[in-house]
Amino acid sequence: MRYVIAGNGVAGATAAMTLRQRDRKASIALIGGESDYFFSRTALMYAYMDRLTLRDLEPFERNVWDKQAIRLVRGWVKDIDAGRAAVTLESGESIPYDRLLLATGARPNRPTWEGLDGTPDGFVHFVSLQDLEQCERLTKPGGKAIVVGGGLIGVELVECLAHHGMDVTFLILEPWYWPVAMAADEGEMISDHIRRHGVRVILNEEVVQVLSTKDGGVRGVRTRSGAEYECGLLGVAIGVHPAVEWLARVTTPPRIGRGIQVQPDFSTSLANVWAAGDCAEILLPGASPLVEQIWYGAKRQGELAARSMAGDKIAYAPPVFCNSSKLFGIEYTTAGRVNNAASGARNFYTRIPGKEVSVRVVESDGAAIGFNLLGSRWNHTFFERWIAERRGMDYVMEHLREAQFDVEFGRQDLSPVFADYQSWREASLTHG
Ligand SMILES: Cc1cc2nc3c(=O)[nH]c(=O)nc-3n(C[C@H](O)[C@H](O)[C@H](O)COP(=O)(O)OP(=O)(O)OC[C@H]3O[C@@H](n4cnc5c(N)ncnc54)[C@H](O)[C@@H]3O)c2cc1C
Repeated sequence: MRYVIAGNGVAGATAAMTLRQRDRKASIALIGGESDYFFSRTALMYAYMDRLTLRDLEPFERNVWDKQAIRLVRGWVKDIDAGRAAVTLESGESIPYDRLLLATGARPNRPTWEGLDGTPDGFVHFVSLQDLEQCERLTKPGGKAIVVGGGLIGVELVECLAHHGMDVTFLILEPWYWPVAMAADEGEMISDHIRRHGVRVILNEEVVQVLSTKDGGVRGVRTRSGAEYECGLLGVAIGVHPAVEWLARVTTPPRIGRGIQVQPDFSTSLANVWAAGDCAEILLPGASPLVEQIWYGAKRQGELAARSMAGDKIAYAPPVFCNSSKLFGIEYTTAGRVNNAASGARNFYTRIPGKEVSVRVVESDGAAIGFNLLGSRWNHTFFERWIAERRGMDYVMEHLREAQFDVEFGRQDLSPVFADYQSWREASLTHG
């Protein structure tokens, strides 16, 4: 059996390892255009801040690929010919497959601003190793930088630039930071924290034009309000989309919607071709198509797609959504449905006085359905279980301490949270 995997991110690398566990004899080729070795994209910011070397971003020893007899191929796949059952690389090399996995990840969204032509010097994204190189080249302590886009990647880029002593302006279209994930109080806590680190955070500001230097580099931006902001580095982090553009030019493209459309067993519309990770759009029976685009989702999908390729019966059922990250140093854990909760859902939200610590639990029909926690560390597996078990708010509050990580510096004192919860509960009982 010849397995070929296009894309050596977490979905592709996990698939390669899973296939090897299933079949000691198969030939496995893992093709990557971006890097020689699989690396952790989520840790890109730590390399930028010089806390990790690029080598530290690689989760595996380099010799693991030889030991597992997985052939690493550096190059971009530019064609898929399902009739010949072969992919062709930009170098011209053709690689035949019996089973092919597409795990080509996501690409940054590109704005359609006036004056933006190609990729002018100074314009950067923060998604790939090549983006990191560009960012590092343009980083100048004291220099002016603008980051557009108030989400996870935007705040990471802002933190890196501020870390290197740049004068950073953070332009956010929405009325508070990251409204798809946060309520106004939470978003404001994050923006205030970022401002305290010397970053200018400007809300409700929509960029409409890129201003250029005489030689075509970036000089700044103009916003809809008419304001102009100067910069030598313009970081654009306005979301990502499945990397599918290249498939429009291949001999036999798979069916594309928002991403490469796959069945719950990760098979595409092409025979013997599967897709997984950030590039995949999963068609789930009775539910909206799913594009996950988170690290553990891509890892899980890579493993399941590999098992499907090896002949297992797979029917993907997405688990409770969970994620954790740091937002300019503030711990962030989320689980379940928070801002996308059903109408009629109720929120218990409290912030510990004098601290950048908050707890939000969303309840619907008597059961906790979502958690958003900022400023302290939590073990999300508890939240997943409580959501799956449809635990009520009283149960959650009685057991909340158990979900805290027992970290070296001690757990956050939750007594103010419990006191607020009692008041919230009494008010709920009074008002129905
Ligand atoms: C800065 C940043 C921070 C993030 N932080 C978090 C976080 O805190 N938590 C979280 O859950 N998620 C986070 N994510 C998202 C997470 O990194 C992705 O969901 C995950 O990496 C997706 O894995 P993947 O294998 O599907 O795709 P990718 O990691 O994108 O890997 C796909 C690989 O395929 C290559 N490729 C594409 N086209 C071709 C081709 N034609 N031929 C050959 N190779 C090709 C790409 O260059 C890439 O190397 C972050 C992302 C970024 C950019």
